[in-house]
Amino acid sequence: LEYTTDVVVIGGGGAGLAAAVSAHQNGAQVIVLEKMPRLGGNTILSGGAFNAVDPGRQSKQGIEDSIDKHYIQTYEGGDKLGNPELIRTFVENAYPAVEWLESLGMKFNDEVFTVLGGLWPRAHKPSTPLGTGFIDTYEKYINENDGIEVLLDTEAKELIVDGGRVVGVKAKGLKGDVILQANNGVVMAAGGFGANIEMRDQYNENWPSLTNIKTTNHPGATGDGLAMAEAVGANLIGLENLQLLPMGDPNTGSLSGNIEQGVENRIFVNKSGNRFVDEGARRDVMTKALLEQEDAYMWVVLDQRNYPTPDTKNNFNETIEELIAQGRAFKGDTLEELAEQIGVDSANLVKAVEEFNKAVETGGPDAFGRTLFDAKIEKGPFYAGPRVPTVHHTMGGIEINTSAQVIDKNGNIIPGLYAAGEVTGGIHGSNRLGGNALADIAVFGRIAGESAAAKK
Ligand code: ADP
Repeated sequence: LEYTTDVVVIGGGGAGLAAAVSAHQNGAQVIVLEKMPRLGGNTILSGGAFNAVDPGRQSKQGIEDSIDKHYIQTYEGGDKLGNPELIRTFVENAYPAVEWLESLGMKFNDEVFTVLGGLWPRAHKPSTPLGTGFIDTYEKYINENDGIEVLLDTEAKELIVDGGRVVGVKAKGLKGDVILQANNGVVMAAGGFGANIEMRDQYNENWPSLTNIKTTNHPGATGDGLAMAEAVGANLIGLENLQLLPMGDPNTGSLSGNIEQGVENRIFVNKSGNRFVDEGARRDVMTKALLEQEDAYMWVVLDQRNYPTPDTKNNFNETIEELIAQGRAFKGDTLEELAEQIGVDSANLVKAVEEFNKAVETGGPDAFGRTLFDAKIEKGPFYAGPRVPTVHHTMGGIEINTSAQVIDKNGNIIPGLYAAGEVTGGIHGSNRLGGNALADIAVFGRIAGESAAAKK
């Protein structure tokens, strides 16, 4: 099979679909290659949080924020390893990306919040569960407009280069080889390698062995894009920077089943019922602390306020009642009863909650340095859910410039090749802030589509 089009996009997750829509809006015919039987990638599985400084929403909530603050938190939160120019482009274009998504029909809630490891209340929450809103929005655009074709079950294998320019893609579909000629360019948006245990082990420098740690990722997150880009000379940066979350389901590693409803009103306790970390800290800080606890296992503990009724849902569209029925969450009318349910020392749990409640009164910082508080944990029933470390995101990847053009090992642009999303490196340094990935992939997906359409 052979196709000719203007722009070929490799990967049908959030970055690839943003690039496809944006390339089309800029006049290009587009073909998207997706190796899995459906669109969505890791994007559709994510919690949905999208960081952007948003004076309209934030001022109504009395939240002070600025583009510079988002910049500094992103840069310092990644230990100053990100590229300042890319971060600047990212933070400046995050809110325009919210508006762009809204112009395509995406709905966000009216209030912003602080997501786990996000460090500031600037996360926008889609009105539909998980990351489905993003993918549905892009799919709707694709269905309503001529000129974007999606090939599912079609795995890109190799970039075609002619005279130093990337001009197409060799892929494999269910019926055999597919050759795609791209008149304007190819956008690489094949995601990260969180589901590739061999590659994780090869690059991991900052964590103990990850061989037996599960992942939040979908099985297609195997790093194909990195190898394809490297084969045409792309520079890969920061591959040693792997992000773990302290929020994995003990059986699957997935984010689902997480009973947390906001970072202000819950604590983490270990198997002894003791707190061990600032639960408002960076993701790497929390996960490192969790790895030091018995069996690297913890309980998220919160109260009735988070689940006013038994059919209140968590972020993953699960009701607390169904989680309890499945043995994935536990309930006690008193803290003592909850402690018994989850097998932790009851005196310790009661003391942990009492000390937390004292810090809520004073505003902290508490013994762990926590300053993020809202309400006390005081009203039964109380709930607990188990969580373990899980591999979530790969911060490193293909080096790009602010136009999403791919850079080679000598610092030159590779003509015809653009990249966006988790397959790229250079923005999040050693630790990505919660809520920054969905914003990053929309911002740079959009830029990559525009650059590719313009044959920049
Ligand atoms: P991002 O957030 O950067 O968009 P996602 O994980 O959401 O990353 O999406 C990446 C998508 O790319 C996934 O749907 C994945 O299945 C797809 N993909 C990965 N490798 C290939 C490949 N070789 N060919 C086609 N699609 C691929």
